[in-house]
Amino acid sequence: MRLSQYFMPILRDDPKEAEIISHKLMLRTGMIRQEAAGSYSWLPMGYRVLRKIEKIVREEQDRSGAIEVLMPTIQPADLWRKSGRYDAYGKEMLRIKDRHDRDMLYGPTNEEMITDIFRQGVQSYKDMPRNLYHIQWKFRDEVRPRFGVMRGREFLMKDAYSFDVSREAGQHAYNKMFVAYLRTFARMGLKAVPMRAETGPIGGDDSHEFLVLAETGESGVFFDRAFLDMDWSAFDIDYDDVAAVAKVVDTFTSKYAATDEKHDAAEFEKRVPDAARVSGRGIEVGHIFFFGTKYSAPLGCEVQGADGKKVLVQSGSYGIGVSRLVGGIIEASHDDAGIIWPEPVAPFKVGLINLKAGDPETEAACVHIYKALEAKGVEVLYDDRDDRPGAKFAVMDLIGLPWQVIIGPRGLKDGIAEVKNRKTGARENVALDQIVARFSA
Ligand code: ATP
Ligand code: MG
Repeated sequence: MRLSQYFMPILRDDPKEAEIISHKLMLRTGMIRQEAAGSYSWLPMGYRVLRKIEKIVREEQDRSGAIEVLMPTIQPADLWRKSGRYDAYGKEMLRIKDRHDRDMLYGPTNEEMITDIFRQGVQSYKDMPRNLYHIQWKFRDEVRPRFGVMRGREFLMKDAYSFDVSREAGQHAYNKMFVAYLRTFARMGLKAVPMRAETGPIGGDDSHEFLVLAETGESGVFFDRAFLDMDWSAFDIDYDDVAAVAKVVDTFTSKYAATDEKHDAAEFEKRVPDAARVSGRGIEVGHIFFFGTKYSAPLGCEVQGADGKKVLVQSGSYGIGVSRLVGGIIEASHDDAGIIWPEPVAPFKVGLINLKAGDPETEAACVHIYKALEAKGVEVLYDDRDDRPGAKFAVMDLIGLPWQVIIGPRGLKDGIAEVKNRKTGARENVALDQIVARFSA
């Protein structure tokens, strides 16, 4: 993409309304635009990142055996009356009437609808277990929408729902999601610590939240430092191996970790040595629940068991804040100059800077590399605008692409360009004909 032809409305100054760094940076770099309290348009740079995150989430859900569907954003109230949540959900639910005066709502979550879908589609234990998920916009009329996409009213969530014949089978479904979450967040360059959690309005027995450490997080967190030294990437796991999956869950739940809602100071002091006690703030990026028959009972979701008798289905639900993650990753990865995108979620991998736009030789060298990178499938943003080098460097640092390739007349004389790593700041002179080989799609 040529920057001269792109849509990236950079703001010169910090927007006053933004309280935290991720919100500031997302507005400054033209990733999003606020349309109403807690509601945003995703502009091209922001949308690219959102889609990358969504893709990682989808790949890891699929890998764990979950199956993708898509349910509507607007739901009829009837199902919610059956579960008792139509009244219980309160003001956070956006209620709508259609032209026939029927009660509708903009879905804040989908337990009722998916349970009804499953009930109609499966009658026997032979067609189980199943886990169905979708990635869809939700609306919750939050009391205090704030921090940009971190606490929006309209936000993108991945929500999965498991259906099993027994409590034990349901536990395995829960464990699989737990491991899939570890993998998902690790692929985005995040350490999201699983913590025992309250179940809240979703209800249920077993529940964990996954929290990314950040000063601006809304939850207080207390945990054992040992978490940070664990290997967060070694989950190449066979999801059908019940014991192996349970073992990973055991490892990641054996050490103390709790949000302020569940924190027990005495237990913390007993279980965690002084030097290993970490307390701080965290951002909730995922939340998993096991709630057994909470929805299958009121909605009459039963199947025929192996013994021929009808049993109520055992379920759990599993959310990831896809749009919140965009802000969460920035909170965890930035410096004074701007965003530092982890490669797997970066909007482009390479920013190509032409130091002398209008100079035919520099332009030709840049275009040659630009085209070769694109042909190779490497995503590159080419700053071909007529602007001062200093201003171009500042913009490139601000938008945080992992690599910068800088080409100017002086280097060209020696047949070299400069390659800069945004994260480490390391710069290297590289022969022009070696540049393309350094990057892969
Ligand atoms: P919170 O405690 O932050 O209000 P929640 O517990 O109400 O969240 P869940 O029902 O567990 O949220 O939703 C699953 C995930 O969706 C959360 O872990 C979070 O990442 C994301 N999420 C929830 N509410 C919002 C919101 N208002 N804006 C952006 N993401 C959200
Ligand atoms: Mg939650």
